[in-house]
Amino acid sequence: MNYKKLAQLYEDLSSTTKRLEKIKILSKFLKHLSESDRDVMYLLQGDIYPEYDERKIGISNQLAIKAISKATGTEPKKIIHEWKIVGDLGKTSEKFTLHKKQATLHSHVITTEKVLENLRKLPELEGKGTVNKKLALITELLTSAEPLEAKYLIRTLIGDLRIGVQESTIREALSSAFFDRDKEASTKIQEAIDKSNDVALVFDIAKKGKIKDLEKVSLEVGKPIKAMLPKKVPTIKEGFKEVGKPCIIEYKYDGFRSIIHRQGNKVMIFTRSLENVTKQFPEVVEYIKKYVKGNSFILDSEAVGYDKKTKEYKPFQEISQRIRRKYNIEKLQRELPVEVNVFDILFYNGKSLLKEPFEKRTAIVKKIIENHPYKIICAKQITTSDEKKAKEFYKKALKNNQEGVMMKNIKSSYRPGRRVGNMVKMKPEEKDLDLVITGAEYGTGKRSGWLSSFILSCRNEEKYLEIGKVGTGIKEKKEQGISFEELTKLLKPLITKEKGRYVKIKPKIVVAVTYQEIQTSPNYDSGFALRFPRFTALRPDKPLSEIANLNEVKKDFKKQKRNYHYG
Ligand code: AMP
Repeated sequence: MNYKKLAQLYEDLSSTTKRLEKIKILSKFLKHLSESDRDVMYLLQGDIYPEYDERKIGISNQLAIKAISKATGTEPKKIIHEWKIVGDLGKTSEKFTLHKKQATLHSHVITTEKVLENLRKLPELEGKGTVNKKLALITELLTSAEPLEAKYLIRTLIGDLRIGVQESTIREALSSAFFDRDKEASTKIQEAIDKSNDVALVFDIAKKGKIKDLEKVSLEVGKPIKAMLPKKVPTIKEGFKEVGKPCIIEYKYDGFRSIIHRQGNKVMIFTRSLENVTKQFPEVVEYIKKYVKGNSFILDSEAVGYDKKTKEYKPFQEISQRIRRKYNIEKLQRELPVEVNVFDILFYNGKSLLKEPFEKRTAIVKKIIENHPYKIICAKQITTSDEKKAKEFYKKALKNNQEGVMMKNIKSSYRPGRRVGNMVKMKPEEKDLDLVITGAEYGTGKRSGWLSSFILSCRNEEKYLEIGKVGTGIKEKKEQGISFEELTKLLKPLITKEKGRYVKIKPKIVVAVTYQEIQTSPNYDSGFALRFPRFTALRPDKPLSEIANLNEVKKDFKKQKRNYHYG
């Protein structure tokens, strides 16, 4: 296919923010997409391979700038200057390509096949001279590109397509193109995407127009799959309401999600973001081979770090380096051992178990795993309808340094990649801090004219140090709580400096904020950042001297058991 046609589709899709409109545009395009152009489906997701594939484009802005410079004969300085003004390297490249075209007037046709061919060479390059080879591959495309093509080539290269097409848009467009947007078809398409993580494969099947065929898409051992995710509940009681009685309650382990595949002698470990981390965890490979019965399977588990002397569980952050580190693995393995806690099974000896009820899947887990504490065990669990017992179990989980509990419906199936209500998490309440507003940003769209995002600061003696930005918890309307209008009115007289949409504000307005965690951060001058901050109240009663000071923040940071989750 001519790449120009795809670039025009991207342009049409970004010309509207309306979801239905996007579905209509995309559906029309898909109807006419031929089987031989199936890989265009990956380009629609800004990718070159199916989502499960680890080979990604991964081009830096710097390299993209170099390529634009080479292809258009523009100085990098000029490109950077323009980029700073428009904030979009794609548009920048469009503009300079236009200048060049006006001067030269010749162009070659580029096809989507050629684009894919060149882009697919990028992740394969290694070693000496890689940068120049990459540059040559990109420049070759850019030199032939028309302005609009250049815009989307660059956006694809730097992984910022900006066409507002999500997986659900693709699902609905496929359903509309080939099944008249039948509801059942939408569900089946989604399930097929969830199981395969391959939109071109699903397109192939959908194009043939048989809903039943979508059901044939199956899990494959060795191909990473997205994990099922829980919803959150505030209390055990609510948890029972969601998942029913009796339910299975397990520790919510504070480690990292590991989906483990075994096919014969081959074991593979994937994270929640489909990253292959097998090399980093040789001991886990060994445990799987030694202590799990079966020739082919996919297990869902959480790997938790523990202290090798005291045998106490450690918070996730302390073992997070094990995921990233690619060298000295044995040393790290000795220092930061992990225990694999298996809580689900998706596939066993050639058969998918996704549709089996959880109680059956968990029974299989227990049958095939030989428990070896501090190596591999079945997740700790109870089955109960009793709130008191559930609460005791929850307390025990916290005492054991874990995050809380998961409550699971015993009859439900496994839904890869979905945040479903048949499994819920219950964690301790969020913590709060009193802080002062020292900056803000004017909103856009519905919120234009109002300050809509606020910089919060804590105290350090006489100074105020930034610690985060908050926009949630504030309401559109006054009657419902603190409104944007009310806050804007309070803050406007306190503005000391304006720069574009940003304003600095004299510290005066004290607010109470809840948050889930404190992380270290280079972005704020306090050195910390709040994770998931939310406004709860104005605190006109609190003097500035009583807001949180940096030492308190540091203490809270040290005290907290749970930290940022990988993936
Ligand atoms: P959250 O990241 O807070 O949405 O919680 C979901 C995460 O909890 C999952 O991705 C798992 O990594 C983790 N988790 C810990 N223990 C369990 C368990 N027993 N069952 C399912 N997920 C668990």
